Amino acid sequence: METTVAAVATPSGHGGLGAVRISGVDAFSIADKVFCSVSARKIADTAGYRALFGKVVNDGEAVDEAVALVFRAPKSYTGENVVEISVHGGDFVVNRVLRAVLDAGAVLAEPGEFTKRAYLNGKMDLSQAEAVMDIISAEGDEALRAGLEQLGGTVTKKCLEIKEKMTFAAATVAAFSDFPDEEPEFSGIDKLGSRLEEIKVELEKLVSDYDVGRMVKNGINAVIVGPPNAGKSTLMNLLSGFEKSIVTPVAGTTRDVVEETVNLGSVTLKLCDTAGIRDTEDTVEKIGVERSRSRMDTADLVLAVFDGSDGFTAEDEALSDSLNRDISLVVFNKSDKGQPDVSPAEKRGLQWVVMSAENGTGLDKLQEKIMQLTKTANLNGKAAVYLNERQRNCAKRSLKCINEAIDCAGVGFTVDAVGVLIDDALSALMEITGERVTVEVANEVFKRFCVGK
Ligand code: GDP
Repeated sequence: METTVAAVATPSGHGGLGAVRISGVDAFSIADKVFCSVSARKIADTAGYRALFGKVVNDGEAVDEAVALVFRAPKSYTGENVVEISVHGGDFVVNRVLRAVLDAGAVLAEPGEFTKRAYLNGKMDLSQAEAVMDIISAEGDEALRAGLEQLGGTVTKKCLEIKEKMTFAAATVAAFSDFPDEEPEFSGIDKLGSRLEEIKVELEKLVSDYDVGRMVKNGINAVIVGPPNAGKSTLMNLLSGFEKSIVTPVAGTTRDVVEETVNLGSVTLKLCDTAGIRDTEDTVEKIGVERSRSRMDTADLVLAVFDGSDGFTAEDEALSDSLNRDISLVVFNKSDKGQPDVSPAEKRGLQWVVMSAENGTGLDKLQEKIMQLTKTANLNGKAAVYLNERQRNCAKRSLKCINEAIDCAGVGFTVDAVGVLIDDALSALMEITGERVTVEVANEVFKRFCVGK
């Protein structure tokens, strides 16, 4: 890359520090034009991983005191020469520094350009670059851990494992094509079917784990449903830690959907409290009830709250019958008033928990059950491989080719046809890490980044 780019690398607003990052062949000479160290040492003469203290000067005027951190190619984030100039953290002063750096010859970096350069310079692959984005936008412990694992190369490693198996299968096909008259053991063509099946299982797991990964990264889309007065708003308030829904003892007061992002232990819930589900003539409430139902259709998790101290009504029975067992958790609330009869949940095979939203007892159990139900409890930080949507599309395409290859091999197509399909599967797989990826795809990935990263 011929240009040297610069951008503010810290968020806008007031803070202890603000930093401008410069990366490229001319990073040192540009930084030397704006930064004067107290020791009079030039940045160009400074070793990597060293810091200099001094001042940023623009148009002969001191802008602020500053520390310049020096990274020498290839030992930097981007793999290029990098200087990070830190000053006091205020938008005005940081932007003055950026202006000075741009006046001195740097070009304003595009969003994600530093990470893109790191990718293009082989410092990280595409899945790792995406992990940087995940770390920046992480809202909970598990999301952060998943991002860090991916940055550490879990996705890359898994893809390499599958790639090796595919390459082996492709080599088997090639050997058989070249020497078709040899014994099947010579090329290993007799084992091709089982090898392809093995690859298929691994790809299927990558694709199916996506949902868990999505919940870990973006939060679990959860909806609270239940009859009026069961304690839905109280539960919402307990989880979000402050009053957001209006809690009143009059049935039917939560009329619309209230949304909140809450961290429950290490998972994040995108929670919405909805209008109580019941037959109603009130038009406004009716709209709320409709919304509750449509939320239930798209949620990852349904928390069905009932007043456990009050017995089960026909309406409660009807709501319980409509719950999807795989994603629903029955919450028998108000345990402080009396122990519930949990049989309505038991007989429907629904998971349940007994708690008091008012005083918080049973909250630990609620968390445990939520993690079990959404499978986020099975997370094994180190071993988990979670793809993002782009990566999952690649894995799905790869899986489709492998399935076709298995079918082709099964019905006795020429091995060449099978070989072509395995190659296609390999190409799709390598798009995940960016080994084989078009410039457009890479650009699309980096467009989602913020400036300065
Ligand atoms: P919603 O209509 O389902 O949203 O119910 P609310 O959260 O508005 O609660 C209805 C009433 O039940 C309020 O008076 C709450 O204080 C009360 N309530 C909610 N949860 C509990 C609980 O765990 N124990 C007891 N004793 N009362 C509760």
